[in-house]
Formats: sequence, structure tokens, C-alpha cells
Amino acid sequence: MRSIILRSQLKAGLFINGLNNLVKCSNYKLRRNQSSTHGPLSILSEDEQFFKETVSKFSQEQITPLIKKMDHEHKIDDELVKKLFENGFMGIEIDQEYGGSGSSFMSSTLTVEEIAKVDPSVSVLVDLQNTLGNNVMIKMGNKEQKEKYLPRLAQNTVSSFCLSEPSSGSDAFALKTTAKKDGDHYYINGTKMWISNSDIAGIFYVFANVDISKGHKGVTCFIVERDQEGFSVAKKEDKLGMKASGTCVLHFDNVKVHKDNIIGKIGEGYKIAINFLNEGRIGIGAQMVGIAQGCLDHTIPYTLERKQFGSSIFDFQSMQHQIARAVTEVETARLMVYNTARLVEADLPFIKEAAMAKYYASEVAGKVTSVCIDWMGGVGFTTDYPQEKFYRDCKVGPIYEGTTNMQLTTIAKFIKKEYEK
Ligand SMILES: Cc1cc2nc3c(=O)[nH]c(=O)nc-3n(C[C@H](O)[C@H](O)[C@H](O)COP(=O)(O)OP(=O)(O)OC[C@H]3O[C@@H](n4cnc5c(N)ncnc54)[C@H](O)[C@@H]3O)c2cc1C
Repeated sequence: MRSIILRSQLKAGLFINGLNNLVKCSNYKLRRNQSSTHGPLSILSEDEQFFKETVSKFSQEQITPLIKKMDHEHKIDDELVKKLFENGFMGIEIDQEYGGSGSSFMSSTLTVEEIAKVDPSVSVLVDLQNTLGNNVMIKMGNKEQKEKYLPRLAQNTVSSFCLSEPSSGSDAFALKTTAKKDGDHYYINGTKMWISNSDIAGIFYVFANVDISKGHKGVTCFIVERDQEGFSVAKKEDKLGMKASGTCVLHFDNVKVHKDNIIGKIGEGYKIAINFLNEGRIGIGAQMVGIAQGCLDHTIPYTLERKQFGSSIFDFQSMQHQIARAVTEVETARLMVYNTARLVEADLPFIKEAAMAKYYASEVAGKVTSVCIDWMGGVGFTTDYPQEKFYRDCKVGPIYEGTTNMQLTTIAKFIKKEYEK
């Protein structure tokens, strides 16, 4: 009955206010860990399928008309951000008691994939909000922090995850930002770089060292709010791709933060960063799968329509083989991403699998978007068609949330352990 109500509403286009309203009007309670872990990976539960369809419809109708404008303006449309919140896509795993959608990690993964098929920049916003920002608060926040921040994260406030600095990227815990204690407060000084969504974020998770002599064991996670004295969002990077997603430099000049705004324990920031980036990588894998699939969805129909030598270019065997290989690779990457998401939901080890999924999906997205441009011929090289944007957008896949080299190093560590016994 539950799914019949939801499906009929979806068919009737009644998701205007999205998942949040559907959840409320149908008394529908989404549960965690509801995915079927024993079935085929590509078969989604009813709830997951519903989420996927809702997000897909939303993306087509609400995001598609804005893609070019946002890419040119280097900014995500303000009204679209509001709609993402109203539709429950910014608080997917946040409990309903805090105003979230109360759904699962798999639903977050599917949401990122579906949005990336349409506009990868918007998927950066939704991905980082759900898999990093919200997850840190859900799993590490204390009762007071959850009560204060989860309703905002679910309903109207974007968050940023501030780890990287000008001199520390892959070597993240060599960070130089400091937090000096004075009574009940800490004073944060330093500069962060490459911080996604910081052009519009209201809440910042800032990793700073309370005792440089302790190395990574001094790294602590603080919550900083946008309007705090001494905090400023500076230069927005002019990037190759993901242009609408704001990536900025942040300055901290004696920013005073109360000790109640420490997430987890003092000196445990490095664990928080490592743990949540491990999960976050699954989101990047999903994003890369979405980009590759979105690009194929725009390209394969063209190969069926375009005629050369009296037949469609799809019908040349050499084209068919390339297309079949690309579709197979995307499906492989997707299954790796889904499997890793299900490992997370089942509370099973997933670090090696997440590194593999992120590495492989990024590689596939790069290859597939590149050959899609080849298959389009000359028009694929123009901005009149979407392939060039997918190609530019996916180039960040092997870089952020841990470069490909760092993923391969992680995978190799596991392989060594497994064979060294
Ligand atoms: C668009 C974008 C958004 C981002 N968003 C965020 C964000 O929201 N929050 C945040 O904290 N950071 C963010 N980042 C930063 C990102 O995580 C870093 O760029 C990334 O970790 C790489 O660091 P780096 O740029 O300093 O490169 P470097 O670490 O200098 O690496 C350069 C090259 O050296 C290689 N290399 C380095 N060390 C090793 C090694 N030990 N073995 C083998 N090879 C190695 C790397 O693989 C890479 O190829 C973002 C970056 C971009 C581009």
C-alpha cells in the first residue's frame, strides 16, 4: 500500500515539494539498513528505487534548464539550492525528528549518481553535504550539537569540510592551521584551500592542530560558523570543470571557537577525517558513474541517428565494440560502488573496496567521456553538446578526496597484508 501511494503520487507528478512532503503526507517512514543485501546488486529495494526515480525526475525538470547558466556563472542557482533542501536531498540520512529524510547511505549514493548524470557540479554539493557534512554530525556530534546543527543541515544550511591547505593535500595531516587554547576557547589561525561549497556554506568543519609537536595526534575538528569574527571566504578558484561548484580559499585570523564546538575528542580529528573520507569516496565513485552514464545517455542515441556511408554509425562493428566496452566498464564501476555502499550499510569493512571503487570509477569516467566525444565527431568538440562538460567535470575524480595514487597505495597495503600472512 505504502509503495502504491508513493508510486501514484510520483506518476501524478506530486513530488513538487519532494520527498519531505511525501514522507509527511503519507506517514511514510523510511528505515535505515533496508537494502536487500542478499539480492543481485543491481536490484534496488522499493525504497531505493523510489528515491532514484524521484531524484531523476527532479534533476531532469529542475536542474537541466539551469546547467549552462550555472556553468557560465560559476555558481549554483540560489533557488535550486532551496529546492534541493525542500525536496529532502540535502538531509537524506538525517533522522526525520531533525527534519531529514531518514533514509539510507545507499539512497545517498543513488541520489549522487542520478544528479551527476545531469549536472556533476550539483552532485558535488549534494554528495559532500550528505556523505561528509551530515554524516560527521550524525555519527560524531554529541546530543547538543545534533540538536543545534542537524535541523539546519537538513533544512537550509550547506556545510563544508575543511582539511586541505596550500602546503598539505595528499599529506593532509601536515596541516599548518593551529588552534590555541585559552580558557574555554580556542583561537584558530591559518588558511584552508580547495574547500568545496564554501561560497555558500554556513557551517564549516575545520581541522586544526592544537599541539603541532604531537603531529597528526594534535589534529582536532572544530565547527566554525560563517559569520564568526576573523573568518573569511576568499578567492574562488577558476577551474577546468565543476565550475558551478564553488571551491574557495578560507582564512582564519584568530577565530574564537568555544570548546563545545569541538567534534569528537581533542586530537582525534585525523581519525574523523580518515573515516569520513573513506565513506565519502563512495560518493565520488557514484558521481563518476553518474557522469559516465549521463554522457553515454546523450551519446548513444546520436550514434544511432547519425548516418555515414549509408548506415547509422552505431552499426559499424568497430563502433559497436567500443560502445559495448564502455557500457560494460560503467556497469562494472557501478557494481563496485553499490557493493561498497552496501558494505557500509551492513557495518562490514569497506576501506579497500571504497578505494577501488573511487579509483576505478574515476578512471572509467575519464575514458568513457573521452570516447563519447570521439563518437560524436566534430560536434562533440563544441559546447553545443554536453559531452565536453562531462569530460571536463570528471577530470577532478582522480584528484579530490584522495588522488588515484593514494587510492592505489591504500589498495596495495591491503593486498600486501592479505598475502603476507
Ligand atoms: C575541485 C576540488 C575540490 C576540493 N574540495 C575539497 C574540500 O571540500 N575539502 C578539502 O579539504 N579538500 C578539497 N580538495 C582538495 C583535494 O582533496 C586535494 O587537491 C587532493 O587531496 C590532492 O592534494 P594536492 O592538490 O595538494 O596534490 P598533491 O598532494 O600535491 O599531489 C600532487 C601529485 O603527487 C602525487 N602524490 C603525492 N603524494 C604521493 C605519494 N605519497 N605517493 C604517490 N604519489 C603521490 C599525487 O597523487 C598527485 O598526483 C578539493 C580539490 C579540488 C581540485
